[in-house]
Amino acid sequence: MKIHEYQAKDILAKRGVDVPRGEVANTLEEAVDVAKRLFSNGAKGVVVKAQIHAGGRGKGGGVKVAKTIAEAEEYAKQILGMQLVTHQTGPQGQKVQRLLIEETAAIDRELYLGIVLDRAAAELVFMASQAGGMEIEEVAAKDPKAIVKTYIEPCIGFQPYQARKLAFALGLKPTQINDAVRFMSGIYRAFVETDASLLEINPFITTKDDRLLALDCKINFDDNAIFRHKDLKELRDITEEDPLEVEASKYALNYIKLDGNIACMVNGAGLAMATMDIIQYAGGSPANFLDVGGGASQQQIEHAFEILLSDRNVQAVFINIFGGILRVDTLATGVVEAARKTNVKVPVVLRLEGTNVEQGREILKNSGLNFIIGETMQDAAQKAVKAAAATASR
Ligand code: GDP
Ligand code: MN
Repeated sequence: MKIHEYQAKDILAKRGVDVPRGEVANTLEEAVDVAKRLFSNGAKGVVVKAQIHAGGRGKGGGVKVAKTIAEAEEYAKQILGMQLVTHQTGPQGQKVQRLLIEETAAIDRELYLGIVLDRAAAELVFMASQAGGMEIEEVAAKDPKAIVKTYIEPCIGFQPYQARKLAFALGLKPTQINDAVRFMSGIYRAFVETDASLLEINPFITTKDDRLLALDCKINFDDNAIFRHKDLKELRDITEEDPLEVEASKYALNYIKLDGNIACMVNGAGLAMATMDIIQYAGGSPANFLDVGGGASQQQIEHAFEILLSDRNVQAVFINIFGGILRVDTLATGVVEAARKTNVKVPVVLRLEGTNVEQGREILKNSGLNFIIGETMQDAAQKAVKAAAATASR
């Protein structure tokens, strides 16, 4: 689960990590109010920041520094409601519905701090870099030595000596080291206490008067742990998420929209991955990842089918099921019901194996609907690619 920058900064501030003064604004009036308050409390300028669930906002024109209230209003007007395109939003961009208005900071240096789980090491890794502000992915690819890492032993936790090591690597002044240790410990606590899967501060800055500030913050939470955090669950902003993914999450379906044209319905994440691979291998392109789960019900199958078909890019459906806990006859009934209800117009290719497969095939045959049956996974994938091409040329 992703959250906004202003929400992430709140989580940091509660743990003693300094962030600029500021407030979120949902309308132009609110934005102007916040700017007025900041200026009257001594701010020399304010920064108007688009709040969307994607990075790269600065380059896309979603972060602007204003010297006066009038200028802040002008930028708020520009950014609020704009379709902000960044390297993380895709070409269609993301509509800006909220702004964060903050006091500007007198930036001396822009640095980077981040924590992620390193799955190979089975430990959290705390990263720091002097090359902050810009795209850290690019730094990692071109100049990996510019990122210093320290691994955190899970039973011991993040130690002050590790924070000092990172602080020295960042080239901080001796007078800033203690502050940096406090800062990094706060970030580590924020990560662990929220069951985060990623936390990045880019840029983490030093100011002209030697203070340390988190100027930006991105936190993603681990969805599998979110049930432990009622308060964090409330931070979810579903208007930022793909509508089909939101719909799928209501029925406990693991659905991720992709940009191909062959919709996949599969049970089991491993089989779903293999299905996407074999579609590509057959020269096609999957429209989604969908794992209906081991014990899907007939209703879930129907909902899954409806969700797949409401994606306008879909030109064929590939149903690849290995009946274990989910019996093939249950699946077949769900698919037939859904196909009737949705009046499906694209070809549906099925590859079925496992428990009650014969009954399942009977149900499909007796339905009077025009299903295409694949004998093997490869055969079905090839048929799906062909069927999608036929729809495309219609
Ligand atoms: P991102 O592009 O989505 O990562 O958004 P950021 O919050 O990181 O902002 C992008 C850039 O805007 C930063 O790297 C800074 O250079 C600049 N910026 C953000 N806040 C301030 C500020 O208070 N003062 C100044 N001068 N620049 C800022
Ligand atoms: Mn940033």
